[in-house]
Amino acid sequence: MEHLPVHALEVAFMIAGRDWRPFPADHPLLPVCAGTGRNCRENREKFGDCPSDKRGKHPVGGWGTMTASRPTEGMLNLWFGRELRNVGLACGPSGLLVLDEDTPDALSKLAESVGEKVPPTYRVRTSRGWHYYFDDSANEFGNSAGALEDWHIDVRGGKGSGGYVMAAGSVHWSGHVYEAEDAFAMPVPLPGWVKQLLRTPPKRKLDPNSAGAGTSSKSGDWNDDPRYGTADVLRAQYDRHLAAVSALAVAAGQRPNGGEFRHALYLAALDGWRLVDCDLLDKITMLRQVKQAVRDVWNADPNDDDRTIVYDEARTKANDSPWVVLDPDEPSDADALKAAYEREKAVEVRKERMRREVRAELDAENREPLRVLDVDGFLDAPSPDYLVPKMFYRDGLSVVFGPPGAAKSFLVLDVALCLAAGKQWREHQLGRGSVHYVMAEGQATNTLRTRAWLHHYEIEREALRGRFTVVPTPVILTEAGVRDYMQLVERDRPDMVVLDTKNLMFAGKESQGDDYGAMLRVLHRIRETAGGAAVILIDHSGLGDEGRTRGSNAQKGGVETEIRVSNDNGIRRAEVTRDKSGADGAQWLFRLVQVQGVARPVNVDPPAVCIALDKNEVWVGSNEPLRDDTCWNVLRDELPEQVGDLGGSVGDAACDLFRVLAYLNQEAPVGGMSFPTIFGHLKDAPREHSKTTARRALLMLKEIGVVAPGNTDQAFVLAAPYLKWRGTS
Ligand SMILES: [Zn+2]
Repeated sequence: MEHLPVHALEVAFMIAGRDWRPFPADHPLLPVCAGTGRNCRENREKFGDCPSDKRGKHPVGGWGTMTASRPTEGMLNLWFGRELRNVGLACGPSGLLVLDEDTPDALSKLAESVGEKVPPTYRVRTSRGWHYYFDDSANEFGNSAGALEDWHIDVRGGKGSGGYVMAAGSVHWSGHVYEAEDAFAMPVPLPGWVKQLLRTPPKRKLDPNSAGAGTSSKSGDWNDDPRYGTADVLRAQYDRHLAAVSALAVAAGQRPNGGEFRHALYLAALDGWRLVDCDLLDKITMLRQVKQAVRDVWNADPNDDDRTIVYDEARTKANDSPWVVLDPDEPSDADALKAAYEREKAVEVRKERMRREVRAELDAENREPLRVLDVDGFLDAPSPDYLVPKMFYRDGLSVVFGPPGAAKSFLVLDVALCLAAGKQWREHQLGRGSVHYVMAEGQATNTLRTRAWLHHYEIEREALRGRFTVVPTPVILTEAGVRDYMQLVERDRPDMVVLDTKNLMFAGKESQGDDYGAMLRVLHRIRETAGGAAVILIDHSGLGDEGRTRGSNAQKGGVETEIRVSNDNGIRRAEVTRDKSGADGAQWLFRLVQVQGVARPVNVDPPAVCIALDKNEVWVGSNEPLRDDTCWNVLRDELPEQVGDLGGSVGDAACDLFRVLAYLNQEAPVGGMSFPTIFGHLKDAPREHSKTTARRALLMLKEIGVVAPGNTDQAFVLAAPYLKWRGTS
């Protein structure tokens, strides 16, 4: 059985069982944010979707109302049982206060600094650190972080409108799965020292008339809150930062301090982008001024590093931490902040537009120069080379598809393990290579299968060490989603990358060519970054059509090989349905054998491994013992070539039909056998054939002249040239 990750419904039931209050939220694998809030609606109208790095946490429905009372079973089914959802957790009604650290170990370090320790409590691993859960049934605190703010720690409490977090089991936009350290741990009461810190104001306080919090010092860089201030304050700050860059110019022959320069450039560009975002300065002018400041220092145009600082770092930061322009005549009270908040919303929309523009600019800059080949370069270019002959190319994309349960993963795991262990795969010496295996559908099953594989082939795990790396969570196949994984690819440069399975990693619509194109580009980048890997995507076959992969033709056009895996009564067949540079039709038969003696959790059957089946061994494949005394034992190779070579399930049926006519029915009347009689005999064959397949097989044998009409139209006999096979068994 294919293993699926924990369903949101299960998570929701577990949470409700603790008397916490779950609510449904967007899931990053949905094609478009499912959030129902105003922001989501506006984003969908203006940009088609919420920003990709904000996906997976927007509430679906009014979360305040949904969590006001204890949910019934019916409500949970309705919220989580129908579509892909993440699970949000409302802190207030759950009586929880959650500390969300932005950097690893921030809370421990903070505790240490005040001579305390973080007590063991229920905590959830996030993409950046931990969510620490504490009991705060009195809802004494809200979302304001107090002095914890100085330590990059966010607070989600219950006071006021309260906050929410994504519960363990939810998926972060980056592919990270929130995971509880101990699913059964209980949250402990909020420690006194944390309470005290929550009541202490942070060092940097919001002051609308100041120059904004922290922009002039490094210590404020991490804070992503919007900065509030007047237009004049921002302009003055930008001019000051720009002047600070130019001021770093030193006498010829001396080198300016690189670190100081980079930081000054960053600050200047950051305020520059904020001015642009607020429509206080046009982009061209700003970029020209920043460029000039760089020239002042180096007597040269900005280089790639400078561009990264300006276009990437400062741009991103300005998006995350925009300037909210305050009216200098307005008093800086709550009303002013509220008005500022409205303007900030407008900034949100604008900054998303800017982000896209800048991305496009950067992409254009990073595009590889156009390559040209002359005749020799063209004709002498290396030809495509197989990693596994006829199946996977060394430097190409492949899709392995088939219905659930066909054993696609078994086959690919077998190849991958052979490669990593330097073991021959079937008759092919693959050499030894390194493998990345992304197991989005759960690593536990594959752990068992791999132990079984090592046990069966008597290979020590040492053989795999350093060459078999498992990524146990999905990698979302978008530019942003693979960012972290790319670093791993760059480090390891694997020979083979397996992505199992597509439906858990593909972030678009099955039917949309654009989404497919984007995914294929990402796969190609993985391949290239690895220095030419075989990238293998495992995919379930199309709904209602097992002969085709899901999705658009873009996929078929974009991959080197497509391999269909099917299960015919226990005999598995892998078949090349497309080979861009070679011939289709290669096939491999295999079956699964269960391996005893492998340590496994209780109540789990012995894990199985994929075993090659010799072409002539097909008869042994089913669970029934070999029948020595019947025609079924006649090997395929001993049949006439015209029959033995027929492919597919119809070909298999044709072989059995021939066995019936030639070997089994020795006492048949000369007039021939009717189809129902033949089909009756076929039922004794070790493998099953459907009536339709058998009928088609019979027609095919007739067509190629192996079978001829008997004494009536309804009866069939072997054609004359094949009569010699009769009775020779
Ligand atoms: Zn949204």
